[in-house]
Amino acid sequence: MENHRLQEALHSLKSTKVRMTPQRHAILEFLFNAKMHPTADEIYKALEGKFPNMSVATVYNNLRVFKEVGLVRELTYGDSSSRFDSNTSDHYHVICEECGKMVDFHYPGLDEVETLAEHVTNFTIKHHRMEIYGVCPDCIKKEKQQH
Ligand SMILES: [Zn+2]
Ligand SMILES: [Zn+2]
Repeated sequence: MENHRLQEALHSLKSTKVRMTPQRHAILEFLFNAKMHPTADEIYKALEGKFPNMSVATVYNNLRVFKEVGLVRELTYGDSSSRFDSNTSDHYHVICEECGKMVDFHYPGLDEVETLAEHVTNFTIKHHRMEIYGVCPDCIKKEKQQH
């Protein structure tokens, strides 16, 4: 079954100046089918067999292009460890401290936190990010098997 959101993304790209290439298509496809919020490096490793001439920098540059046209979100964690999210609607993340897996978690937006932060700090608040940390079921299973 074709990914509906991927089709929508491809369609909306057509209305931008972004030229579609086989590499770009593959990167987008991987991103929209992966639930794991991959890093540029993870996407590169998954696709290098298919595109031997592609570099991590190419992957990253393409992700930046997708980000600029609003197709993906970048979750930055310092220099090279940005994760990319194909879900651009507001949602939170649960992250496994063992393997780094990141899973979407839908919860009503905590708008009152932003309002309060604005009042208290006089900042103009633009957005917020909440991350919940724990151990994923796969890692719990692995730990149990080891003991
Ligand atoms: Zn895990
Ligand atoms: Zn997400």
